[in-house]
Amino acid sequence: AKSKGKARFELFEPQMASAVLRRHDFKEELAKAIEREQMIVQYQPIVALDSGRIVAAEALVRWEHPVRGLVPPAEFVPLAEETGLIVPLGRHVLREACRQARRWQDAETDPDVEPIRMHVNLSVAELRDPGLVDNVLASIQESGIEPGQLVIEITESQLVAAAGVERFHELRKLGVKIALDDFGTGYSSLSYLHSLPLDTLKIAKPFIDGLTSGRRESSFVGMIVDLARTLDLEVIAEGIETAEQLAALRELKAGLGQGYFLGRPSAAPPRLART
Ligand code: C2E
Ligand code: CA
Ligand code: CA
Repeated sequence: AKSKGKARFELFEPQMASAVLRRHDFKEELAKAIEREQMIVQYQPIVALDSGRIVAAEALVRWEHPVRGLVPPAEFVPLAEETGLIVPLGRHVLREACRQARRWQDAETDPDVEPIRMHVNLSVAELRDPGLVDNVLASIQESGIEPGQLVIEITESQLVAAAGVERFHELRKLGVKIALDDFGTGYSSLSYLHSLPLDTLKIAKPFIDGLTSGRRESSFVGMIVDLARTLDLEVIAEGIETAEQLAALRELKAGLGQGYFLGRPSAAPPRLART
């Protein structure tokens, strides 16, 4: 009965009448959502594999929709990119994330603990935005964090699409760090890696998934870890879901890790239990 109800609902849903109309509505709704502050940011810990300490967090946007509930980014980020709404959205996320990094820093009582780093995702449209560098600088200054605490994440394919890395050099001149996201799933060649102004490689989840079952994956991840060491880059293993994967990554000396096993994305706690 439930599925029948849903089918009927969809049949008469006015937005379904035309994909174009629906897209238009969605765009308006998204624009309003940004104004109405329905866009919230969750944070997922990034952990030092040897000590278990939280050294960084990744900011991940969600849409707190009044009717649909918490909408994941996969359902609205692509359209936000197409329509250019990603620019104001990204600006909001960046500002929030920098403020949060500062709050955690202020709540830290141990002076020996390094200030937490904050990872923020950027897409092609944002890289092309002429105002990007000024925005980044404004967020850093407004929050009072050090530029080196901010890590911009970009995927390989987006990097290729963005054509040109000048923006990266500008960002890096500010002291901001750059991480290559989902490494291993795009097109990067060794020469590419060599020429990019990078600080960190994030090893994509599919490589981590296979870590328990076979030697092949573990030697592959090991190879990336070695490559990163040669290029003097930090490594973050993404999507760690099991104790076995964590143990394998520790053995490979992967450095840093992120994944449901270590912590899910969630609203920011007032302070971090960092060990
Ligand atoms: P991403 O940058 O690769 O982010 C990691 C995604 O993997 C997140 O999904 C995270 O919740 C999920 N994840 C983390 N650990 C695990 C795990 O152990 N297992 C599994 N199955 N998943 C895990 P999320 O939050 O749904 O974000 C999806 C994508 O949306 C992100 O992928 C990123 O590309 C994009 N995104 C999120 N926030 C932003 C943003 O503020 N700006 C832009 N431009 N893109 C964003
Ligand atoms: Ca990311
Ligand atoms: Ca990723």
